[in-house]
Amino acid sequence: MSQLSVKEWTDQVIKQDQIDKYLIDGEDFIDEEKINKNLKNNREPNRVKVRDILQKSLEIERLSPAETATLLNVQDEDTWQEMYATALEVKKKVYDNRIVFFAPLYLSNLCVNNCAYCGFRKENKDEKRKILSKDEIIKETEVMVREGHKRMIAVWGEHPRSDIDYMVDSMKTIYDVERPAPHGPGRGTIRRININAAPMSISDLRRLWEVGVGTYQVFQETYHKPTYRKMHPPETIKGNYRWRLYALHRAMEAGIDDVATGVLFGLYDWRFEVMSLLYHAIDLERQFGIGPHTISFPRLMHAAGSEVAEKSPYLVNDQELKKIITVLRLAVPYTGLIITARENADVRSEMFDVGVTQTDASTRIGIGGYSQMLQEWSHFQDRSAGQKEDEQQFILGDTRRLDEVIGELAEKDIITSFCTAGYRCGRTGEKIMGLLCNCVEGKFCKLNAILTYREYLDDYAFEETRQKGMKVLEKELNELKEIEFFQERPEMMREFYDYYERISNGERDLFI
Ligand code: SAM
Ligand code: SF4
Repeated sequence: MSQLSVKEWTDQVIKQDQIDKYLIDGEDFIDEEKINKNLKNNREPNRVKVRDILQKSLEIERLSPAETATLLNVQDEDTWQEMYATALEVKKKVYDNRIVFFAPLYLSNLCVNNCAYCGFRKENKDEKRKILSKDEIIKETEVMVREGHKRMIAVWGEHPRSDIDYMVDSMKTIYDVERPAPHGPGRGTIRRININAAPMSISDLRRLWEVGVGTYQVFQETYHKPTYRKMHPPETIKGNYRWRLYALHRAMEAGIDDVATGVLFGLYDWRFEVMSLLYHAIDLERQFGIGPHTISFPRLMHAAGSEVAEKSPYLVNDQELKKIITVLRLAVPYTGLIITARENADVRSEMFDVGVTQTDASTRIGIGGYSQMLQEWSHFQDRSAGQKEDEQQFILGDTRRLDEVIGELAEKDIITSFCTAGYRCGRTGEKIMGLLCNCVEGKFCKLNAILTYREYLDDYAFEETRQKGMKVLEKELNELKEIEFFQERPEMMREFYDYYERISNGERDLFI
């Protein structure tokens, strides 16, 4: 924890030279006029033009701003149907039929910022403030591990008490937790910690890298500068638009090559925000050779003491959310797309069919929410347990257990992956993007998804889910024999079948 006063600490966070170095002639990459011109010049697109663009997406090439604007302007429902189908095809090509699962851990709701839409903002006096101690972090992690989770996203407000020292110590604590699985021989651990935290300096980001951060995620919230100013008071750290805009550039420079961005949809016009996400990806590609690893599209939810979610004229409905995800899938075909438990079960299910690749389950976002859930959730029947409006950022739309969601996906022949191999054997950043663009990473991941799915079914699944899951596995194993990529690699497949056998017999954490 920092020894400085809150004001002293706040005053030294932003390093202007770590913004300026990424600008071009003093300008950042969000040019409002250019974005609006692109949207205006590509109105009323004809179907032939749209089909040409879809062909480019199918070849797993990133679209240009003009092409993306064309897709965003489609009005005709039949053409949208074609776009939904193509988005699913693109997803299958790159990511196959896998969904990767994670769960968030909120460690602190202390915050020096005052974002108009967030329950954690400093002026919200109704919020009960809490920062987890080491013992509490261990307890929370134990519940998550007991559910079967292997991938966590750790989340913090911005505050000197949750500074870089606290983050690094928390990550070490989390990685050290190990707990026996309830149904099988496995010993559960978190194998990958991603983080969602405020923008940092390059030296702080290097420290995260040294303790094994997976993906570093910062949402720009809105790329529209006037709206950004309205939502984030200028005297706060978060009020500095460009410090946030270049957070991922600094992370790349610090060696964290899996970075993730997102927009809080509902603050401003969704078409403008999708265009901006694309410009962000293009600038990362230009300066570092690769775009973001994932993009998120949280929708603005009601938060205690905030009226923004009720009053905003830009709220996004389900149909528009589907369009956002479809265009992103087509515009940046290699990028992972994340939908969270903010959304209800039906919406999540529909979005899997147009391009989503990652999601969470058994989620609690109150500080200490997982331990409360254990205490209050007798036999895990009461789904609302552990949700308290004055202790969390917003109220979740889907609080189902991981087992239930995995069972539902199994009925659709979707395999759940807990794979963390890419990160642990160096398939990250530029390497993973190259593999994704050539549709090769999807093949490795298919094998590792099978291995981690089997681990989950043996160690954590309830009987009904296990039975459904074993059918999916059988289908997956049969499919492998038909795929040329695997037929051409007999040695790799011998290793894979050996691993599968050993996992069935109780060994754990074997990956290709
Ligand atoms: N404090 C850090 C920051 O602002 O980047 C990280 C943590 S913040 C809790 C994580 C994200 O929650 C924010 O980036 C924002 O997009 C999202 N969020 C905040 N208020 C929300 C709301 N009312 N509804 C949905 N998402 C919200
Ligand atoms: Fe703090 Fe982040 Fe919430 Fe803003 S969004 S008030 S920075 S926790």
